[in-house]
Amino acid sequence: MEIKTVGVVGAGLMGSGIAEVCARSGLRTRVAEAGEEALAAGRRRVERSIERGRQGGKLSDSDAEEITGRLSFSTDLAEMSDCDLVVEAIVERLADKVELFGTLDGILHEDAILASNTSSLPIIEIARVTKRPDRVIGTHFFNPAPVMRLLEVVRTIATSDRTLEETRALGERLGKRVIVAQDRGGFIVNLLLIPFLNSAVRLFESGFATKEDIDEGMKLGCGHPMGPLQLLDYIGLDTALFVCDALYEEYAVRDYAAPPLLKRMVAAGYLGRKSGRGFYEYEGAQRG
Ligand code: NAD
Repeated sequence: MEIKTVGVVGAGLMGSGIAEVCARSGLRTRVAEAGEEALAAGRRRVERSIERGRQGGKLSDSDAEEITGRLSFSTDLAEMSDCDLVVEAIVERLADKVELFGTLDGILHEDAILASNTSSLPIIEIARVTKRPDRVIGTHFFNPAPVMRLLEVVRTIATSDRTLEETRALGERLGKRVIVAQDRGGFIVNLLLIPFLNSAVRLFESGFATKEDIDEGMKLGCGHPMGPLQLLDYIGLDTALFVCDALYEEYAVRDYAAPPLLKRMVAAGYLGRKSGRGFYEYEGAQRG
């Protein structure tokens, strides 16, 4: 099956970037959100990013116009009925994703692929509510999706070879380097990344070093583009906490357990860049 029309459900940090990547690659892209306000915010995020590309000379005026023309936005999931593949990028909660997949399963044509951008949830638990578990797969994009070259494709024990190959081909069409992971908590990247981020929080929490020194240490000492605490602010502390909890539940290994400081910061609403405050402050910062 050639994928011509793609749907993206949830136009937050990740969904808006995924939608932009798809539209830039020539695919008709339908974006859905839960409510009008979130939809308008998602649309602004995508349009601002395309405009930045135009102003920065990466996109010509006609490219920008064509990309915008391939995108449509709605709060009505029924408008996804002609999509060949739908990626969900909604909140990281199993119950919400299960409900969404049940609904999408009833809307999409029987050969369509249902993909989840989950960072941590068992995709098979989302797949089993559908009548097409062989057509359900994980497509784990990285933030910001238009910039980051990696796509982790995650196959469950029920995903068919055909679904894997069609999804891999789509990822390559989007200009991504595709790596394939099993449907186990953390896939490849988070399994390695989360213990590192948690160690940095524990180091900071214990008073061992300042946040600036921890971040500079990893940037200048290891060539990381940003330090671990900066990266946590970038990911969103609430998202990181969800991932820690899911990995700890999966493996019961202390390295994955969320440090108390991370939990308290999320409780305080210090979610990182998106809320204007995390380990650092972002004056006047706007998401995306
Ligand atoms: P976000 O909070 O920025 O966006 C989620 C969006 O989904 C919101 O705009 C919300 O209104 C919308 N939404 C919630 N329920 C919905 C529903 N039922 N129907 C339609 N829209 C709905 O979150 P995010 O950071 O973009 O994360 C989205 C997903 O991507 C999560 O599963 C997360 O684990 C995963 N992910 C996040 C990152 C990251 O760095 N933030 C990276 C990779 C994967």
